[in-house]
Amino acid sequence: MEASPLKKLEQIEFTLDSVSDLSSPSVSSFSPAIATFSCVDGVTELGFLHFDAGECFNFDLASAQLFKLGPVQFICVSDRSDSSEEKSFSKGVRINFSNEKDSKDFCDSFEEWRKKAVVQGSSLENGALSSNKSKFDDKIEASSAKMYFHYYGQLLHQQNMLQDYVRTGTYYAAVMENRSDFAGRVVVDVGAGSGILSMFAAQAGAKHVYAVEASEMAEYARKLIAGNPLFADRITVIKGKVEDIELPEKADVLISEPMGTLLVNERMLESYVIARDRFMSPNGKMFPTVGRIHMAPFSDEYLFIEMANKALFWQQQNYYGVDLTALYGSAHQGYFSQPVVDAFDPRLLVAPPMFHTIDFTQMKEEDFYEIDVPLKFTASMCTRLHGLACWFDVLFDGSTVQRWLTTAPGAPTTHWYQIRCVLSQPIYVMAGQEITGRLHLIAHSAQSYTIDLTLSAKMWGPGASQGGILQSSTCKFDLKEPYYRMSQPQAYPVAQEPPLQPQEQFNTQDMQTKTDELEVELLQQEPQNASTQL
Ligand code: SAH
Repeated sequence: MEASPLKKLEQIEFTLDSVSDLSSPSVSSFSPAIATFSCVDGVTELGFLHFDAGECFNFDLASAQLFKLGPVQFICVSDRSDSSEEKSFSKGVRINFSNEKDSKDFCDSFEEWRKKAVVQGSSLENGALSSNKSKFDDKIEASSAKMYFHYYGQLLHQQNMLQDYVRTGTYYAAVMENRSDFAGRVVVDVGAGSGILSMFAAQAGAKHVYAVEASEMAEYARKLIAGNPLFADRITVIKGKVEDIELPEKADVLISEPMGTLLVNERMLESYVIARDRFMSPNGKMFPTVGRIHMAPFSDEYLFIEMANKALFWQQQNYYGVDLTALYGSAHQGYFSQPVVDAFDPRLLVAPPMFHTIDFTQMKEEDFYEIDVPLKFTASMCTRLHGLACWFDVLFDGSTVQRWLTTAPGAPTTHWYQIRCVLSQPIYVMAGQEITGRLHLIAHSAQSYTIDLTLSAKMWGPGASQGGILQSSTCKFDLKEPYYRMSQPQAYPVAQEPPLQPQEQFNTQDMQTKTDELEVELLQQEPQNASTQL
């Protein structure tokens, strides 16, 4: 995309082997000819010119479509004729290239210029765009977006999500148990990936599903859907960002899986609410409907020591004759700025969790730019507190069944695991003591967040009652750079105190299947197994 001539030129030409006008009664072929992409007075056009015959066909790229008939052969059609008396007729040309390279370059340019035409929005019928530039491109670094969509364009990563059976199974159940929300309805799948959720919606009887996917996965989704003829004719795959594309009709239902670690990572929830505002009819339904970020302080000496030890490498004074200690402080800080991603034993939590709700039906896109959560907990035990553990759940608020998808510790593990922000300076708490603080998330242009975490506890002991002295610990984390700790073996001794059972955490399990409940029970009964499941 970066290498495209579009950004530099206002015009680009391709030499064609031949062009023929399909809308003329006598289809005559002109050879050779020239195709020109150009932008004149805000209208982006594709023109075909045959020099000798002086024939010229122009297509407004906002409404033109290109179909590939063979390696070097295309048909270009537009549903709008430029002559006013023929407005109700479509027009089309067949074009041939002399080689595959030209053919491919032309095809890439067509996509680029068409995108520009749509973004300019001069002739949009459905939805108006506020600016010439995509909302997505405005706030996200091109290099981040490129890597992001490259990642999702690969089947192995889609497979990883599909194989998260807690995730995919919960989506399937949420759709199938709420057939009445889908049957006969128009559905938009926001970030369709392999197209799996579109096919769930179609199985539930959707009248039509628009599967919008920005990455190259859109091509695979087309293939996969075509291989399922039972519902293929009710699904249209649209390759593009939900911020940019247009749809021919409003949707009754949006379905999407836009959640990242800590719910908000990847900043795709913003695209989800943009899709809501652009495509959903006023009383439409969103699957999922709301999300909650759950938080609780934890104590984990093993993890803390493991992280602190990583930086010890830089304390060597004679590393092949080099003193490394000048970088010890930076390395230590670097490790403690990485949120830890793994599945931990819920008995490490030292206070009942609290949660912060994000209502996808109400949130504005801008509300995601900064998320500020005041924290308040009551310690259940006397311990050294090492940081804040976070996870999320989402609710499918169907008309028939309300179903939760949870990523809580102790519940069956998902590919999101849980995250823990580890403080470089632990704080000491007594049972019953109040822990306060703040979790401040600030969105950045690399599709993630900077996290500022402060945890404080009023000191006990002599003088504390008069002065109310606070022990406070603050750390900054980059959610984009997590430490994936899943493969590390963990050994947790059986707790002396009765296991903490965060009340609210188990509320989120209410709608889980029987097997899920069984697994949670087993985990609680056999604490020594907690490490082996990793
Ligand atoms: N719905 C699929 C894939 C979920 S992953 C499933 O449940 O298995 C999220 C997908 O959304 C990725 O494939 C990603 O490329 C796509 N995506 C992210 N942001 C997007 C945007 N703004 N417009 C269109 N697709 C987007």
